[in-house]
Amino acid sequence: MKNFFPKRDRFTEVRPYQQTVLTALLWFTCSAVLCYASLHFYLGARWLAVAELCLVAYAALLLYVLHETGRAPASNLMFVLPFFCVMMLSLWTEKTGVMVFVWVFLVPLLSHLLLGRWQGLWVALVFIGCAGAIFVYKYGIWGGWIGYVSVANVLLCTASILGFSYIYETSREKTESELRALALADPLTGLANRSRFRDVFARERQRYLRNETPLAMLVVDLDHFKRVNDDYGHDAGDMALCFVAELLASRIRQTDVAGRLGGEEFGILLSDVDLVHARQIAEDLRDLIQDRAFRYRGKDIPLSASIGIAELGRDGMDFRTLFSKADRRLYQAKAEGRNRVVG
Ligand code: GH3
Ligand code: MG
Ligand code: MG
Repeated sequence: MKNFFPKRDRFTEVRPYQQTVLTALLWFTCSAVLCYASLHFYLGARWLAVAELCLVAYAALLLYVLHETGRAPASNLMFVLPFFCVMMLSLWTEKTGVMVFVWVFLVPLLSHLLLGRWQGLWVALVFIGCAGAIFVYKYGIWGGWIGYVSVANVLLCTASILGFSYIYETSREKTESELRALALADPLTGLANRSRFRDVFARERQRYLRNETPLAMLVVDLDHFKRVNDDYGHDAGDMALCFVAELLASRIRQTDVAGRLGGEEFGILLSDVDLVHARQIAEDLRDLIQDRAFRYRGKDIPLSASIGIAELGRDGMDFRTLFSKADRRLYQAKAEGRNRVVG
């Protein structure tokens, strides 16, 4: 059960809205497919009825687990594939009649909703292809007595639903990734916001627990920043914050993360960096902020920063403890005269 329904983080393969669609499909299977199973049993299509009953039992099991644990299967493919296979079996069965093919319209819709853009497209193409092959096998290329106009209509309709589902899923994924980026970034500087910063810390902490790779946290606070606002205006203050954010981001590695923790305070996570190395990096950053002139309307505005450092393991194991250690050292740096590193 543990691997079948693994615990997942915020960006799971099965998204919450997909879980809602899956739940609706499971209820549909438990009710409508159960009716079909009885009908097919009555019509003498016993193998199909048995397959449908198995699918109903499987759907009921998934519903039960979902209800008890609140967790969806690791991938929606685990239900979508058996569902479509039973659908193909019902198309194949002689006694179901030609109108059963209307269910194929559901294939592109369900696969895009439940599997996303690419997996959805491939699964839809495979099962639409299978349905086409079964149709040709049963009724010939033009559907025999059904007529080529009807067949062409069904083909066009299926292709349209496939196209619209794909376009819809593409734009939905794009909007979702834009919203996600907005939710995780600081709107002024574009750096990670506090929530993203904490997420990265949690990930790095796992890495530390697994491999004992060191992790250092820097808390960087601009000195006398209120004066920048008072002397040059809030707009200059905002631009100075963006300027410092760019400096910080330009100096750290791809694997590190810089975030704006609030006001004129920034946080940096240095992965695979011990305390000695973190002190050197912090000194470099402090020098950089002091040496690079921030120009505003033709004037150089001097900036400096104080930095507190904490190391995962030595100074604490959770975000709060580590942050408060780094923050305390930052205040020590302020008390000792600012524009310095304590760690
Ligand atoms: P210290 O050296 O002790 O840190 O002094 P400080 O002036 O930097 O610290 P203080 O906490 O007294 O003031 C922080 C200032 O930062 C006050 C506020 O106007 C400014 N600030 C915070 N957030 C923003 C922002 O988003 N934009 C601008 N322009 N200013 C900000
Ligand atoms: Mg400050
Ligand atoms: Mg501050």
